[in-house]
Amino acid sequence: MKILFASANKNKAEEIQKLLPASIEMLTLKDIQLTEDIPETSPTIEGNAIQKANYITEHFQLDCFADDTGLEVTALNNAPGVLSARYAGDQRNDLDNMKLVLDGLASSSDRSARFKTVIALNLNGEQHLFEGIVNGEIRTEMTGTNGFGYDPIFEPEGCGKTFAQMSMDEKNRYSHRARALEKMMVFLGKKTLTAD
Ligand code: IMP
Repeated sequence: MKILFASANKNKAEEIQKLLPASIEMLTLKDIQLTEDIPETSPTIEGNAIQKANYITEHFQLDCFADDTGLEVTALNNAPGVLSARYAGDQRNDLDNMKLVLDGLASSSDRSARFKTVIALNLNGEQHLFEGIVNGEIRTEMTGTNGFGYDPIFEPEGCGKTFAQMSMDEKNRYSHRARALEKMMVFLGKKTLTAD
C-alpha cells in the first residue's frame, strides 16, 4: 500500500517512517513536488489535521494522512495548544517558544502538561481520525539535543528524561505521534493494539 504523509516536517516524517511496516510505502510532499505551505488555520488540533489532509485530497486527488500536534500545559490554560508552532510569534522559533513556556511557568508549582496528536486519514473517500496523548511535565530548563520542537522541555511521565534525551526509537515508544499512528495501523489491519 502507498500513502502520502502530508507534512513538510522532516523530523515528523522520519519518526513516522520508522514506525511503518514494510508493507506501507510512505510518500512525502517532495514526491508530489509540493513546496508551498499547507494552510493550518483551524482553531483546533483536530481541525488542522483535517484541513491538511483535505488540502492534499482536494488538490491532488490522493489518499493521505496528516497529523497536527499541540503541547497543552495545564497551568497555562492548556496553551500553547493549537498555537504550538507560533506560540512566541510568526517566526515559529523553537527556542523562543520554549522560553515563553518556561517563563509562563516560572512561579507555578503545577508543571503538568501533555502532547496531543491527531492524525486525519483520508482513504477511499472516507475520513478517519486517530488521537494520541502522552502525559508528562515541563522541566525547569531545556535538557537534551535530540528531537525537535518542545522536546527539550518535556519529560513524559515515568521516563526520568526529556524527549530530547531519547533516541528516535525510544521517543517512538512513548510519544503522542506514535500512539496516534499505532491506532491508524490497527485500523488498517497492520498491527494489533499494544497499549492505549
Ligand atoms: P504541527 O503539528 O507541525 O503544527 O506542530 C506544532 C508545533 O508543535 C511545532 O512547533 C512543533 O515543533 C511542535 N511539535 C510537534 N510535534 C512535536 C514533538 O513530537 N515534540 C516536540 N514538539 C512538537
